[in-house]
Amino acid sequence: MMINRERTRWLALAGVFAAALGAIAIITLLAGRGGDMPRPGARPFRVVTGTFTASLDLLLKNEGIGDAQRSRVVKALASKINLRRLRPDDSYSIVFSTSGILKYLVITKELNNYVITPATSGVFSLSVQPVAIRTSSSLAGGKITSSLWESMSAAGVPPAVILDYTDVFSWAVDFLTEVRNGDRWSLAWDYSSDPSGKIIAPKITAALYDGKETGRKTAAVYQGAYYDDRGESLRSMFLRAPLHYRRISSYFTNRRFHPVLKYFRPHLGIDYAAQSGTPVSAVADGVVTFAGWKGGNGRLVILRHSAGYETTYGHLSRYARNIARGRRVSQGDVVGYVGSSGLSSGPHLDFRLKQNGRPLNFLKIKYRSSGSVSGKAKEAVAAAIKALP
Ligand SMILES: [Zn+2]
Repeated sequence: MMINRERTRWLALAGVFAAALGAIAIITLLAGRGGDMPRPGARPFRVVTGTFTASLDLLLKNEGIGDAQRSRVVKALASKINLRRLRPDDSYSIVFSTSGILKYLVITKELNNYVITPATSGVFSLSVQPVAIRTSSSLAGGKITSSLWESMSAAGVPPAVILDYTDVFSWAVDFLTEVRNGDRWSLAWDYSSDPSGKIIAPKITAALYDGKETGRKTAAVYQGAYYDDRGESLRSMFLRAPLHYRRISSYFTNRRFHPVLKYFRPHLGIDYAAQSGTPVSAVADGVVTFAGWKGGNGRLVILRHSAGYETTYGHLSRYARNIARGRRVSQGDVVGYVGSSGLSSGPHLDFRLKQNGRPLNFLKIKYRSSGSVSGKAKEAVAAAIKALP
């Protein structure tokens, strides 16, 4: 099953250049307002579009624009835009008349269009127009056949949203070890986009993961925090695992990376098999009580948490910066990197949890939510989850 529905509405249609990034759209708009512009259908002018892989000056020079005119263009722009900061992310459109006269120059940088037009006596005038921001929402859902990353990518979920999704459930699901074929996922998200299609500030509004190992997990946002369909907060004292999907994905820069790891329980702790160098995250807020070599543990970090809990991270290849006895760490912070130091047959993280000195099975620890909503808020959360595909 794969679904991706999209609905769109247009906001902020301010400015003449609202929908225009494509040159033709810009020309249509220009033609509509300028009396001297020919009809666009006739195409009696030349349009050059591109992104800034070279300086504006070089670009204009290559288009045959002379020194005097180039310096007037640059002068008109300089008060509003730093021309040295133009990047391949930024784009331009130049419109020439049939006789090769520069009629318009539009630079799109961040969320503005900078429009240069010839005014009287060879001077150029500049106007700055906000680009149109589209706000949209999307729904997607599917079944896992190889990995979460592949399944979500195939359904059109942008990489940033996949990572946000794993964050939403980071207290409840270990997406590195608990994902199984046949597990079901779905989500809804809001986002903005600029005319080039670049996605800005995606935000997951509701999500579901129903897996063999994990059971059914749900989430919907309410006032900036996520709650499940019983109104319980998704935040909890412990992350579901010390190896964190987002951390690992951003560490391995390969965009096609879709991690699947394994864990073993050869003793009172858990061994997470992972590549050497994989970032290791604190599962809860705490204080570093030990960071050093300890016999067979090799490089070891010990954290003390509230309620008498303690977590240990062994066989590290190195410590994270700033990890030293007495330092505070926040949940999710990197404390070190997977290695094979001490008595270890290969790279893995030896992770253990104790409470008041007694070893506990981290995988069986009771999930305790950090708060809840009731009444109308709870109903809204439940309704958002119910609306998922
Ligand atoms: Zn171990």
